[in-house]
Amino acid sequence: MSEIRIGKGKDWSFRGFCLGVPAQNDMDIFKRLITEVMPEYKCNALVLLIRYRYQFKSHPEVADRGALTGDQAAELVDICRESGIRLIPKMNLMGHQSEKKRGSEQGLLRAFPEFDETPEMDEVRYCRSLCPLHPEVSDVVFDLADEIIEAFNADAIHVGLDEVFEIGKCPRCKDINNAKLFTDWVNTLHSHLTGEKNAEMFVWGDRFLDGESTGYGEWEASRNDTWSMVDDAAKDIVICDWHYGVREQYPSVPYFTGKGFRLLACPWRNIDATKAFAEYLSENMNDRVMGVLQTSWCNAGMVARYLCDEDDEVEDVAKQVGESFKFLMTF
Ligand SMILES: [Zn+2]
Repeated sequence: MSEIRIGKGKDWSFRGFCLGVPAQNDMDIFKRLITEVMPEYKCNALVLLIRYRYQFKSHPEVADRGALTGDQAAELVDICRESGIRLIPKMNLMGHQSEKKRGSEQGLLRAFPEFDETPEMDEVRYCRSLCPLHPEVSDVVFDLADEIIEAFNADAIHVGLDEVFEIGKCPRCKDINNAKLFTDWVNTLHSHLTGEKNAEMFVWGDRFLDGESTGYGEWEASRNDTWSMVDDAAKDIVICDWHYGVREQYPSVPYFTGKGFRLLACPWRNIDATKAFAEYLSENMNDRVMGVLQTSWCNAGMVARYLCDEDDEVEDVAKQVGESFKFLMTF
């Protein structure tokens, strides 16, 4: 393994890696990533994208293919603890419930199609969302989130909430502005997860950023007015501020921390962008910047093979994520 350079980023208390649930036949290499590679790079948090890939007991019908068993979750809990890694499970509890087309719904909308914000649409712009005002949606979502927190013995959960475009469209929601729908849903999740379950709540930051004034656009920020009630959101959520392109400034860092939120900077595959974001972060540190979270958005088994065995026969994105991870953790 290449020599590790510890630079000015060493003060980051949170040094995380966000990875998907690996395929069943990649579990062994994934465990080696946790026990061998992550500690070597002083990476101390794994945000594991569960989505519906867990064999839920509360609602077994929502489990997707390749779902982890309770025993597998317990084993991951054990090896993360032994490796000094905080394990934070992640679900998407508003958007990202499908791909564009009908038939691509993930577990929750497959089992509960009545929770779809746009049931009449055969194709949506990007992906389907949950209706936050459906009278039963929060009960089911709480069951799933509670079960995941317990299965992973977690003190935090990442609830997603990124890239929500299908909002304010159903008959219950259409006369309410998007900022209120979004912020109320954030606070509904927060009061249950943080209030009742005593778990920290991590959220992607994009829907709380004004895409116009920040210059960030409509993906990594919002142009569908979900942001304007950000001051009414619970201040003890952790904002995962994702930006994947090279910029001179990342104004969301002072913006969120100035409002009282804690923040993680989250790069992806473009190494120049990772460098620019890490440089900006180190020059704009304050007490509310917790650190960094390397995202992946590709096959976790490939990332593990690249980082454990320097296997070059993996997709480009897995190599780029691996290199970005190494840079970020040794910056
Ligand atoms: Zn609705």
